Amino acid sequence: MLHENTALLLRVLSSPSAASEPRASLLSRFAQAILSTTVCGSLEVWLQEGERTQRWCFPPGGEPSSLAPEAEGELSERLTEALSLTTAAGVAPRGGSWTPDEVLLPFEVTPRVRGVLLLRSGPRGAFDARAVEHADLLALALGNELGHQQTQAALTERVKELTCVYQIAQIAAEPLPLHEALERIVELLPAAWQEPEATSARISVEGETFRSADFSASGEVLRAPILLGGQGAGWVEVFHAGCEASAAFLPEEQHLIDAVARELASLIERKRAEAERVRLQTQLHHTDRLATIGLLAAGVAHELNEPLASVLGFAQLAAKAPELEESTRADVERVIKAALYAREIIRNLLVFSRQSPQRKVEAKVDAALDQAIALVEPRCATASVTISRQVPATLPPIQADPSQLQQVFLNLLVNAVQAMPGGGVLEISARHEGGAIHVGVQDSGKGIASEDLERVFLPFFTTKDVGEGTGLGLSVVHGIVAAHGGSVAVTSEPGRGTRFEVSLPCSPSKESE
Ligand code: ADP
Repeated sequence: MLHENTALLLRVLSSPSAASEPRASLLSRFAQAILSTTVCGSLEVWLQEGERTQRWCFPPGGEPSSLAPEAEGELSERLTEALSLTTAAGVAPRGGSWTPDEVLLPFEVTPRVRGVLLLRSGPRGAFDARAVEHADLLALALGNELGHQQTQAALTERVKELTCVYQIAQIAAEPLPLHEALERIVELLPAAWQEPEATSARISVEGETFRSADFSASGEVLRAPILLGGQGAGWVEVFHAGCEASAAFLPEEQHLIDAVARELASLIERKRAEAERVRLQTQLHHTDRLATIGLLAAGVAHELNEPLASVLGFAQLAAKAPELEESTRADVERVIKAALYAREIIRNLLVFSRQSPQRKVEAKVDAALDQAIALVEPRCATASVTISRQVPATLPPIQADPSQLQQVFLNLLVNAVQAMPGGGVLEISARHEGGAIHVGVQDSGKGIASEDLERVFLPFFTTKDVGEGTGLGLSVVHGIVAAHGGSVAVTSEPGRGTRFEVSLPCSPSKESE
């Protein structure tokens, strides 16, 4: 008889492992206990959650359980009726409906999840009123246990989710480069999901992708956009490679992935702001250093200018004396040549330190660029360098010294060609944006080592052989651009090329005036 085993069955149901074991296993344990201790020959458990109905059939004969989730709309009339009993009174009224062959008992798991227990009699006898009463008690207990299990499972999931968000916040607080932080975060995502072993994750932000170990983009996917400044900048995705699509993700997991996407967005924005702060600080430090060196250079240049003028003047006078011996004349010519060279260096130093006079007029940047390009074109032809020019004719004129502008571009172009001894591509571009004209000079040459990058604008810094470079070209570029209220920046990838970008304001600032 069913009722004789009720106490035993209730004990089976509420065993300590019930809260943590999967739902199908709890049902299987419950079914096997009923089948082996009562007149019941086979049983079914139906669970309905919103639109979704699941059905488990437990036939006799020792097979643990057979799981058959039912398609929507296939509820039998009796089952629908039984389920409706659970809602009519808010809680399941006891008793259900029964015949000697079949007992149909509704129960409630949670207000959103309702169930029906269907017992069929077997060869050991038929149901009577007492057996039904006890079966009803079991249905009630099953509902409670499933409800408890669901609450427990939801709690475990919530703890996993909070742990995940907490760990992300911890990684975000570490002083790591962004890519390293994202690599670590993507690794901890699968553990926060219902079935970590069947789950893998991927974070894609602005062209970069990070994947968890054993990543597989198959099965069901849950995703959330990463929004930077309100704009979509990427995705965080979680894939579930399990076979049962309907059970792949819990509804709360969409909230979790949304929270992860928000955490990632704030992490990326914070790291970027930090990188920008460091960049501006370095730039300020660099500009400061160049200004100090400029003052020093200007002082030295002024001091040398006068004695040098005397050397040059007297040497030129001496060269004109008719009675000079040929060898002495040659020596005097050498003195003149060296003095002229020194004068050129002093002139460049004065340009670098912004001490040389300027003649500012309305000047066309594209014209200055074209004149500079024309001067390097023959050299490009012999060095197999292809020039790509993307300079619109519509650039507005700026207040500048046209010959100094030409010198800026010429210095950059000559350096670029020299960096490509085996040939390459020289890209020259210009655009008008944000009240300034930005000119880019990019080569596909040998690049600049990172430790040299911040020294290239210093006077006399050169990596070229003696006679090939004085190390003043970029100092002059810097001096001229700064005197025009603009800025010059360099980026380079050793072995792949270098890009210089000169920005010149369309209306000069007060400082440069
Ligand atoms: P110089 O050309 O006389 O050496 P610059 O001041 O023009 O002096 O350049 C300083 C140094 O910067 C160069 O010696 C070279 O090492 C580096 N440099 C400048 N432009 C480039 C470039 N486009 N590619 C690689 N290195 C460059």
